[in-house]
Amino acid sequence: MIEVKDLVKRYGETTAVDHLSFTVEPGRITGFLGPNGAGKSTTMRLILGLDRPTSGTALIDGMPYRSLPDPLRYVGALLEAKAVHPGRTAFNHLLYLAQTQGVPKSRINEVLDLVGLSAVANKRTKGFSLGMGQRLGIAAALLGNPRLLILDEPVNGLDPEGIVWIRNLMKQLAAEGRTVFVSSHLMNEMAVTADHVVVIGRGRLIADTPMEQFIARYSENVVLVRTPQAEKLREALNGLGAVVTTQQDGALLVNKTEAAAIGELAAAKGIVLHELSPQRGSLEEAFMELTREDVQFHGPAGIPAAPASSAAQDGGA
Ligand code: ADP
Repeated sequence: MIEVKDLVKRYGETTAVDHLSFTVEPGRITGFLGPNGAGKSTTMRLILGLDRPTSGTALIDGMPYRSLPDPLRYVGALLEAKAVHPGRTAFNHLLYLAQTQGVPKSRINEVLDLVGLSAVANKRTKGFSLGMGQRLGIAAALLGNPRLLILDEPVNGLDPEGIVWIRNLMKQLAAEGRTVFVSSHLMNEMAVTADHVVVIGRGRLIADTPMEQFIARYSENVVLVRTPQAEKLREALNGLGAVVTTQQDGALLVNKTEAAAIGELAAAKGIVLHELSPQRGSLEEAFMELTREDVQFHGPAGIPAAPASSAAQDGGA
C-alpha cells in the first residue's frame, strides 16, 4: 500500500505538489490522472525517494522508500523508459540491474519472455523503438518480482497492440494481489484499465474514487439523432427535460436522455429516425472540463482538442 499524506513539493516559485493526500491499495490498478504538468511524475518521484518533499510524507507499507529492507524487490518502477545505456544489449542491461539487486540470472529470461523481448535479447538497445524501450523498462521494473509497481505514463508512444498488452499485464499483476499505481493524462485509456482513480490538477487532489463511480458521475449521456422531423422531435424531447442542440447539418445532439428513451418517444409520436447514436468520448471531454482550470500549459487558443478515442466505451479488453 502507498500512503501519501499532506504532501507538498515546491521548486522555487512552482508548487508541483500541493497538500496531496491519497492511498493506493493492493490488488487493484489505481490510475493517477491529470493533465501534463499536474504533478504526477513529481509525486511518483517523491514516493520513490528520488526527491525530498517540502513537507508531508509518502510511505510504502508504512515506511519511507529509503527505509524499505530490500527496496528494488519491494517496488518496481518505470519512470523514464529511455534511461538505458544504448550500447548495451537488452539482456546485459537487465543483467547489470539483476547483479546490483541480487536477483538470480535465471530471472532475466523470465522477464524478457514476459514482456515479449526474448527474440531481441542480444540486440543493442540503441536500435529499439519507443515501444521496445517501454517493454524493456517494464522488464526492469518486474525483475525483482516486486509486490508494488509504479509506472509513469507506460502507454506513451505505444502502438495499439502494445497498449492492450500493457493493460492486460497490469490487470494480471493486480489480480495477483500486487499494488499497481499507473499515471496517465489520457482519461479514456484509464477508464478501461484502472479500478480506482486519483485525479490531480496543479498538484491538488480533484477526485479519489472507484473508476465506475467516476464514469457514472462524469460521463454525460450525449446522443446524436438524425430525423426528417427534427422540430417535432425537439419539442417532444424538450417536454421530457432533455437538453437539445441542433448541429449545423441539422442533426440533434441530445443531453441528459438515454438513446432508448429517445427511440421510444419517437416511436410513440410516429417520428421517423434516420440515426440514433450515443456519442463516444464524452468521458474524455468531462475529464478535460474537470481539469481545465488546473491545466498548467494550455495549447494555442482556438485549436480544438483532438477527438477523444472511443476506448472508454469499448468496455475493456
Ligand atoms: P506531470 O507528471 O503531471 O506532467 P510534473 O510532476 O512533471 O507533472 O510537473 C509538475 C510541475 O512541477 C510542473 O510545473 C513542472 O514544470 C514542475 N517541475 C517538475 N520537476 C521539476 C524540477 N526538477 N525543477 C523545477 N520544476 C519542476
